[in-house]
Amino acid sequence: MVIDLSHDIGNGMPFVQGDPKPAIELHLDYLKDHCRVTRWTLGSHTGTHIDAPSHFFVEGASLSDYPVTRFFGRGVLMDLTHFEPNEVITPEDISPLIHHIQPGDFVILHTGWDRWWGSPTYEQHPSLSFEAARLLVRRQAALVAIDALSIENAPDDLYPVHELLLGHEIFIVENLCRLDKIGEQTGEYFFLPLKVIEADGSPVRAMFRPYEQIG
Ligand SMILES: [Zn+2]
Repeated sequence: MVIDLSHDIGNGMPFVQGDPKPAIELHLDYLKDHCRVTRWTLGSHTGTHIDAPSHFFVEGASLSDYPVTRFFGRGVLMDLTHFEPNEVITPEDISPLIHHIQPGDFVILHTGWDRWWGSPTYEQHPSLSFEAARLLVRRQAALVAIDALSIENAPDDLYPVHELLLGHEIFIVENLCRLDKIGEQTGEYFFLPLKVIEADGSPVRAMFRPYEQIG
């Protein structure tokens, strides 16, 4: 059974201050134009989305530079659902599962913060410490994902964790949801971005597909 890990995109959805306000408007409609076409105004980091190195680096690679095979793979899910608002995820917190991470794996940080989507508490999410991120770099993770607004708190507009991960071409996925439905299952995660030329990020349809159960 496939699990959809994506939030809905639509008018009135939460978005980061300073980013474009998402808007879905009618451009053509059935009666007048015989069909419906809508106009979408979206930032590249709207809702459930993926970050490319070019989000932070002038010379960084963009999403369209990668083969589609970079956007799905085996994931290691970390249960961090006991975290409090603004709490920082340390190397000790991720150490119990760190040896399960093989080079090229995705690391999925399950905080349960998606339950606050649309409320002010959503902005007080747990975040990954620089030291914990460094550990994931050393394990050669290919992608780090979280079910919260961002992977880090950046009160001073400094983004050391983004820069560290993206600087090693480790993708970041933010605003996942429904990770609680995965439980003990292992499987593949899919974070497929639109193939927009020079995209620094893109909304994704995120999903989990468990490995076939044998026997
Ligand atoms: Zn982003």
